[in-house]
Amino acid sequence: MQDPNCLFCRIVAGEIPADIVHETERTISFRDIAPKAPVHVLVIPRDHVVSLGEAGDDHGPLFGELMLAARDVAAKEGLSDSGFRTVLNTGADGGQEVMHVHAHVLGGRSLTWPPG
Ligand code: 5GP
Ligand code: ZN
Repeated sequence: MQDPNCLFCRIVAGEIPADIVHETERTISFRDIAPKAPVHVLVIPRDHVVSLGEAGDDHGPLFGELMLAARDVAAKEGLSDSGFRTVLNTGADGGQEVMHVHAHVLGGRSLTWPPG
């Protein structure tokens, strides 16, 4: 299901251009418009799910596919050996700006922890 007012649903629909690097049946992955690392890709479900906090128990397989897509993105981007970070921001304190769940895949440099 898509939300016509949602930025990422509009990317899924092809209404807003994005640099897509990976696709699966239920996910797409594209480069972040404001990258925080040499590799910064967002992995999203094609369906509109707001956040991890609002995920239902029946979303387990979808979130599994999301994580495995993140793994495949990292491999495609050459990060399998060097490592990478996978981040899901949830809600206001989590720093979530786009209300369509997305996993950030970050890599290509050493990343500090915790982030600022
Ligand atoms: P959040 O803060 O919600 O976890 O992350 C949202 C991310 O979406 C940010 O890193 C931001 O740079 C990225 N973003 C926002 N608008 C666009 C857009 O139109 N296209 C792409 N590719 N990324 C976007
Ligand atoms: Zn959406």
